[in-house]
Amino acid sequence: MKSPLALLGGPKAVVTPVADTFAWPIISPAAEEAALAVLRRGAMSGTDVSQEFEKEYAAWQGTRYALAHSSGTAAIEGALYGCGVRQGDEIIAPSLTYWASALPAFNLKATVVFGEVQPDTLCLDPADIEKRITPRTKVIVVVHYCGYPADMDPILAIARRHGIKVLEDVSHAHGGFYKGRKLGSIGDVAAMSLMSGKALAIGEGGMLATNDRDIYEHAIAWGHYERYGSAIENAWLKEFAGLPLGGHKYRMHQVSSAVGRVQLREYDARNREILQAMNAFWDLLEGVPGLKAHRPVKGSGSEMGGWYAAHGLYRPEDLGGLSITRFCEAVCAEGVSCHAGCNRPMHLHPLFNTCDVYGDGRPTRLASPDHDPRQPAGSLPVTEAMNSRVYSIPWFKYNRPAIIAEHAAAYRKVAENYKDLLAADPGNPSALGGWHFFTHR
Ligand SMILES: *Cc1c(COP(=O)(O)O)cnc(C)c1O
Repeated sequence: MKSPLALLGGPKAVVTPVADTFAWPIISPAAEEAALAVLRRGAMSGTDVSQEFEKEYAAWQGTRYALAHSSGTAAIEGALYGCGVRQGDEIIAPSLTYWASALPAFNLKATVVFGEVQPDTLCLDPADIEKRITPRTKVIVVVHYCGYPADMDPILAIARRHGIKVLEDVSHAHGGFYKGRKLGSIGDVAAMSLMSGKALAIGEGGMLATNDRDIYEHAIAWGHYERYGSAIENAWLKEFAGLPLGGHKYRMHQVSSAVGRVQLREYDARNREILQAMNAFWDLLEGVPGLKAHRPVKGSGSEMGGWYAAHGLYRPEDLGGLSITRFCEAVCAEGVSCHAGCNRPMHLHPLFNTCDVYGDGRPTRLASPDHDPRQPAGSLPVTEAMNSRVYSIPWFKYNRPAIIAEHAAAYRKVAENYKDLLAADPGNPSALGGWHFFTHR
């Protein structure tokens, strides 16, 4: 019998034109007007619009303070400084994430120790953290990876026990929930990218959110000279007011903040629709062999936020060992853009192993003279295996049942007909995934 798979000559699963189902970001006329108003006023470089945006953002986030940054990367760096990361210190972060979750530590002359992720959540594994803590550890960076709320309670308990801070990187998960609590309001501080590819898309920009006045003030002092003045309460910081301690200028472009104010107002409704669409997609694939949803169980009070860079979990052992490469190739042939893998684990990159960024005569990763934290290939087996066990799924921006059903049918069809693909399976290349995966229209 001839295979029904499109890759082997059968009909495609996706036939309906997708129109703007995946178009992103969505910029409303109100957002366009807001951007133009800043340009017409020549107010691109001020902070008045940004400070309004911060107030609204803090209210939405449920934190006392929000500080607008030029990028999510800058916000993470400010947050790390605010958490007390200094020369020779260590942070613990997942290796399976976008580089900006961890790399800003280098700007603070600190280093990174990578922790393992859980294979079903793709987020930091609480059971793996404690053994990585040293007297130099200052922060655990938790990434709600691909929209999934990381397991915050045990991580916070470990951090409290050791007197270290928790930074939530919410760049993939704006508006998500962990056991009823909004992501970004659970740890000591949160930072998130708001660049155009992210679920909350404002242009280039990032936000820091915290209830901790001291973290907030240190982040101001690090990269916001124009805000670093008489309002600062910390006595040590007061002495140096007026110039940025980090030598950085991290304020947000006001076209971004103006667009951001509108995007934030529109976000909850947009996020709800994305959530409905993505959950509908996974509901259709419930029970399909080899495929597992990357989302928290219903009724747990935890909920995906935004579904940025949405992925699914792959179990090749349930599909006769079919490689993720071959699986994705067959899904693509059905009319879906499906990529194998996600972020390539950072600990394997030469920047974290051999690169002497600052000319110290030794790799920059070796921030402290008494400790080599480098992690060779094989040291994070769960993390290193994940790229052959995840695939991208469509990021539906609208709840359109017919289109969602066709896309789900593509994945189902390939999984159910996996035997037809085994013979010509080339296997996986030596490395899957990428260091970054953003493209725009
Ligand atoms: C995008 C991203 C960042 C960095 O944000 P930018 O705004 O691009 O600087 C940080 N962490 C994660 C997990 C991201 O995906």
